[in-house]
Amino acid sequence: MNSTKAINQVAVIGAGIAGLACARELQLHGISVDIFEKSRGPSGRMSTRRTQDWSADHGAQYFTARDPRFIEEVQSWLQAGTAAIWKPKLKVYEAKTWRESHSQDIRYVGTPHMNSPGKYLTEGLTIQYGRTISQLERRDDQWHLQCSEVNEITTLYDFVVLAIPAPQASALLEGLDSRAADITDSAQMKACWTMMANFPNHLNVDFDAAFINQEIISWICQNGSKPMRQGSTWTIHGSPDWSQDNVELSKEDAQEQMVQCLTALGFNCKDADISMHRWRYASGGLENRVGFLSLPNIGLGLCGDWFNGGRVEGAWLSGFNLALALEQIKN
Ligand code: FAD
Repeated sequence: MNSTKAINQVAVIGAGIAGLACARELQLHGISVDIFEKSRGPSGRMSTRRTQDWSADHGAQYFTARDPRFIEEVQSWLQAGTAAIWKPKLKVYEAKTWRESHSQDIRYVGTPHMNSPGKYLTEGLTIQYGRTISQLERRDDQWHLQCSEVNEITTLYDFVVLAIPAPQASALLEGLDSRAADITDSAQMKACWTMMANFPNHLNVDFDAAFINQEIISWICQNGSKPMRQGSTWTIHGSPDWSQDNVELSKEDAQEQMVQCLTALGFNCKDADISMHRWRYASGGLENRVGFLSLPNIGLGLCGDWFNGGRVEGAWLSGFNLALALEQIKN
């Protein structure tokens, strides 16, 4: 029989900003948490690509803070030096014409890298990296986890939090719970082709970043314009629609199309050192922002940006608010 049980031991799947916010808040309230993350480090899509010669934020570019609880959180990041305000000279390209941006948003970036706030949040948490959770099974009111890299995980959990993109959660939920599966299946996430281009020669460009409308590229940004970065590596994002329609292109073909567009925007790409990355699930989510999903009767919770508008702030709030809901059950 399913009934709400005490929550003592929680597994959080995914060490992106949502999973970390959730885990921290739970641990703060005396709940024991283990985090499983398939990558080698934390922070998920808030990430920086580093090579010997250059580095570039290739996922989230900056974040904003509007909710009072997230504003408070960001203040603590600023004080710890793990984030800073970024004041770019911003332009907009629309209908084949450049103009200044009038946006008054306060923009923050992680310092020195975009994954720095995520790293900061891991302090005091127990995280196993390189662990891809491949199967969840609930027996006798406890969760048994399997992962691709090692055999069954021996610890049993009262509660599992899936803090991963909707399609990846959907795969794990198959046959487990129809309410959770319905919600993950109704989320629409789109891909993003990202190009990182290091220009050895000076570029004759009078802006740090630009929103590009009605083209296959939607954003370009000079990483060196952000606090605590240097160099002339630009991050260029494909638009969500073009990226999704072309998600199965080879890296070479995607690069060719993006270079063509960038050249038309006035960038000489001839000597650029270019690297491509495909984000299969970059943006989007549920049409209605429901925040998170908690199913205490089967010990399951879901959170992530896709519940909450698809951005860093939405992700953090989703994880944080799920944890608050679980604390109420615990008490
Ligand atoms: P994620 O960051 O995706 O974290 C999920 C984690 O789960 C990942 O680390 C992943 O490796 C792990 N994982 C997945 N499956 C498993 C599994 N089975 N087992 C174990 N681990 C697993 N937001 C903004 O606010 N401003 C921006 O400018 C901005 N630009 C963006 C540009 C791009 C190209 C992209 C990709 C995103 C951008 N975003 C932006 C969105 C922002 O990055 C996300 O909203 C936020 O980082 C999502 O956090 P999350 O914790 O919900 O998910």
